[in-house]
Amino acid sequence: MTTDPQVVALPMGDLTFPADGAIFPGQTVVVVAYAVRHAGGVFLFDTGFREAAPGDDPELREYFQKYALRTRSLPDVLAAAGVDLGEITAVANCHLHFDHSGQNALFPGVPIYVQPAELAAVREPDYTLPEVYDFEGARFEQVAGDHEVAPGIRIFATPGHSPGHQSLVVETPDGPVLLAGQAVYTRGEWAGIPGALVGSSDTRPGADQAGYARSVARLKALNPRRVLFGHDRQGWPD
Ligand SMILES: [Zn+2]
Ligand SMILES: [Zn+2]
Repeated sequence: MTTDPQVVALPMGDLTFPADGAIFPGQTVVVVAYAVRHAGGVFLFDTGFREAAPGDDPELREYFQKYALRTRSLPDVLAAAGVDLGEITAVANCHLHFDHSGQNALFPGVPIYVQPAELAAVREPDYTLPEVYDFEGARFEQVAGDHEVAPGIRIFATPGHSPGHQSLVVETPDGPVLLAGQAVYTRGEWAGIPGALVGSSDTRPGADQAGYARSVARLKALNPRRVLFGHDRQGWPD
């Protein structure tokens, strides 16, 4: 049996940007989380988004409606991928927007690695609503910058889309596999394909385009053999 980490894609559903919105108007995008099975457990990178719940703030329900979410339940998606919810030993969200941290509440007591800059940003207005990423029993582990979370698996700080954005690098015998999160939006953006959906065009308040470019350069310098994305079912090179 191999002990090399195995990366499993978890398709969490899709959402459609508002037609009158500032970014990607009318575009439907997928949301993909990843599980990394390694010798010491299963590391979960992102938790997708969740359905609006009856007790939710009306503002949040409206927000969910605005994005026309088509949500999949993480336990179902994990089960389909052969992973039991109880096997998850640690979690990281690439960032704390609702489409990457929406089902965090499934993991009380499980360490959730987060950059201090992200936790600070999330408390600002207009970032996201706390009932999305935070919950009773949440155990946020603040780590600034790059950080090894298990042998051969490390968080790689990639600020830009958000102040504490982070990617994940998984070492394999053939070279690093990069889980970019939203540091790079799509395979087409990574490969420089004209017309691809690109995150670098993001001009929302809080988006840092210079930081985004610096983070992409850092990721390129890793020379990964494979790159997987938070908003693209297709990886690079295939
Ligand atoms: Zn985001
Ligand atoms: Zn996103």
